[in-house]
Amino acid sequence: MDDLQELYQQVILDHNKNPKNFGRLENSNRTAEGYNPLCGDLVQLFLQVENEAIKDISFLGSGCAISKASASIMTTELKGKTASQAEGLFKKFQQLLTSDIHSAVDTKDLGKLAIFSGVREFPMRIKCASLSWHTMRSALRQNGETVSTET
Ligand code: ZN
Repeated sequence: MDDLQELYQQVILDHNKNPKNFGRLENSNRTAEGYNPLCGDLVQLFLQVENEAIKDISFLGSGCAISKASASIMTTELKGKTASQAEGLFKKFQQLLTSDIHSAVDTKDLGKLAIFSGVREFPMRIKCASLSWHTMRSALRQNGETVSTET
């Protein structure tokens, strides 16, 4: 493991221990739940959406360090973004997770999300990292369905 991956790992552990925006959002108008049965990760998202923009966002959940860190970092990245910006970021994150492990990562638009590049080495964990993002999309669409990584 090189220094960068070690640093990334540390960030994931830190977010797992002290997640940002953790808790129920009082004035949320969009919520969704996600479940990753392969790992047992659960995430519940609360969004306050106004004029197609995410004014505030928080989460509750339990699961592995990757799923929790991913939700934590996602909330910090999405606060203040419009729904279409959130969708764009989701696509870039998905691209990162499914790209070849040996390919270089273009981190320019990814911000802190780049720390999940190491997850590519563990295909089982990709769903842990993407769970909160799929749940976020469900919340924005507000279709009321529980998101499962297995359907
Ligand atoms: Zn997990």
